[in-house]
Amino acid sequence: MVATTAVLLASRNRPRTYPVVVPTHSRTEIHRTDRVGWIRALVLGANDGILSTGALLLGVAGAGADRGQLVTAGIAALTAGACSMGIGEYVSVSSQRDTELADRAAEAAELAEDPEAELAELKNIYVARGLPEPLAWDVARALSEDDALGAHLRDELGITDEMRARPLQAAWSSFCSFAVGALIPLLTAALAPDSIRVAATTVATILAMLVLGATGSRLGGAPGWRGAFRVGVGGTAALALTFVIGRLLGTTVA
Ligand SMILES: [Zn+2]
Repeated sequence: MVATTAVLLASRNRPRTYPVVVPTHSRTEIHRTDRVGWIRALVLGANDGILSTGALLLGVAGAGADRGQLVTAGIAALTAGACSMGIGEYVSVSSQRDTELADRAAEAAELAEDPEAELAELKNIYVARGLPEPLAWDVARALSEDDALGAHLRDELGITDEMRARPLQAAWSSFCSFAVGALIPLLTAALAPDSIRVAATTVATILAMLVLGATGSRLGGAPGWRGAFRVGVGGTAALALTFVIGRLLGTTVA
């Protein structure tokens, strides 16, 4: 951005010479868009693991299960949930990746077929972004000589290397974050004494969701309390609902 602006300003004063302008400040800007993808996957995975496992354990406990039954149910929930999250993420990110690959192939074919039209297309993109026409031609030519396909993917389709869809990485991080999240209520239910098991599992589940919600918000650049509040209200309602249903089923079915 700084470089483009510098080139643009330089060209207004002395057209057609583009001195290298070094920014006078050395402040490092912190952007968060490149983090959004994996933060979303991690927070979603861990939150699902905590809430679905915690709720399932409370539902089963509400129906009168003992520690052994709770642990069995909890391990099954962890395994099933982590696999489901991982596979779901793999499928969804793979289709995104397929779209990117198809776009890349189409763009490469267009470049091979009609490089002049593609150059004009690139120039028009820069004009639309505010560069004067002669400068837009120069930028389009320079970038095309350097890496025409990369320039088209980035400036025409918005595909960059940092933002590229990575199915396996997404699947793996969803799987792990769900499993880690699920371990919190599961270990609490397994280790707490009989008399406080339900209470301890409830508290551990809600606390974990609050901490995670706050962390997710802050990593994404929003105030922590906002995420904690969102997830805390929703999560507590889900836990209460599951426990009550477990209670009702436990007294009527068993
Ligand atoms: Zn193009």
